[in-house]
Amino acid sequence: MSNQFKECISQFNKTCDIIKAFEDKNGSRGIINKELEILKNPKRTIQFSIPVLMDDGSLKVFDGYRVQYNDIRGPFKGGLRYHPKVNLDEVKALAFWMTIKCAVADIPFGGSKGGITVDAKKLSQPELERLTRGYVRAAAKFIGPDTDIPAPDVYTNPQIMAWFMDEYSRIKGKNEPAVVTGKPVEIGGSLGRGTATAQGGFYVFENLRKKLKIKKEKTAIAVQGFGNAGMNFAKLADEAGYKIAAVSDSKGGIYSPNGLNINDVVKHKENTGSVVDFSGAKNITNEQLLTLPVDVLVPAALEGIITEKNTGKIKAGVILELANGPTSMGAGEKLFKKGVTVVPDVLANSGGVIVSYFEWVQNIGNYYWELEKVERNLHKQINKATDLVWEYMNTYNTNMRTAAYIIAIEKLSKALKIRGV
Ligand code: NAD
Repeated sequence: MSNQFKECISQFNKTCDIIKAFEDKNGSRGIINKELEILKNPKRTIQFSIPVLMDDGSLKVFDGYRVQYNDIRGPFKGGLRYHPKVNLDEVKALAFWMTIKCAVADIPFGGSKGGITVDAKKLSQPELERLTRGYVRAAAKFIGPDTDIPAPDVYTNPQIMAWFMDEYSRIKGKNEPAVVTGKPVEIGGSLGRGTATAQGGFYVFENLRKKLKIKKEKTAIAVQGFGNAGMNFAKLADEAGYKIAAVSDSKGGIYSPNGLNINDVVKHKENTGSVVDFSGAKNITNEQLLTLPVDVLVPAALEGIITEKNTGKIKAGVILELANGPTSMGAGEKLFKKGVTVVPDVLANSGGVIVSYFEWVQNIGNYYWELEKVERNLHKQINKATDLVWEYMNTYNTNMRTAAYIIAIEKLSKALKIRGV
């Protein structure tokens, strides 16, 4: 097991111990049972080679993965990542988190994840299309609208989801829009899906800001990662009147203590390919961004960036995890002791999968919602989840991550018991 997946299981075991201690003291609610053992391993792990004809006539073979972690509460659901560091253990961890996330968000899906080990930036559009169609052909037997539904993740986007849906529909001989979410709206995507992860994170933050009694006017925010999750969150927070003091992407970051004009940063990134060298701001490294004197830190890139080594230097009082798994378990415990509120990924970024669920519902019913309905339902669903995490945090006298895991384990445990092994 890699550290990542091992950490997932350690977090799971630790949460079970907390539930057990609580039940021993207050009477059993039947959450801890033998069926929970099932959640310590993925149900199915698929690995395949994807041969792709490159533009120069050569042939390259890429490694592809799909981990179907658990489907006791509904079909497997989880994104597809294209990144040079994708490996089986990472995909297993991401699939585990999806299982927890769907239960916390209370949507009737299980958890899965997929990935291809590839530097997508080095591929042309036709090469990316052939790679995506190759992945679909390899995975087609295992996925489907009622079995496993992928979605975008790091370096995958609506165009890739469109190729995905098209290839799967060709294999099946009929239109199958519900096989994948995050599609362009022209072919069955949902209004609001493109910004849903950030929008959901923003709703969670606004809910908690009131509970934590944080004043909006003086709140400075630093966002690591300027893609779908990070850029859209920075835009929403900027529009709402927060000060976005720093942002970054894979090439580095920028810092302006008085706040950045995010619309101008977006234009600068469109023109130059990066946020770096934005006029009027100081260039910083991604590591420096984590330790700036800000109130809120929003990791929105990759996992494992907040570790026991850098927690001591973090000055933010709130960490809103839009990325999956940005904080190591040890770092999370240290931050809790320091009084930092870590809003866990399984809640903070669940807006993406909630609106993916809405997209799937619209595809199945072939009836499409207005944006206002999508946003209203997202707000309702994610606020309910946030309130419940807050309530469990107080009941169990623990941090928000453990509270979210308790909620998920309770729901999964009941479903496992009712269905039977
Ligand atoms: P994306 O590809 O749209 O953007 C990723 C951003 O991170 C880019 O700006 C990239 O330059 C930056 N980046 C890459 N490596 C970096 C590094 N080493 N340091 C700093 N920045 C780096 O991806 P995304 O969809 O925004 O996903 C970001 C995170 O959010 C991931 O952890 C993903 O799993 C999580 N997430 C995404 C969604 C979604 O709907 N897209 C949903 C839930 C969670």
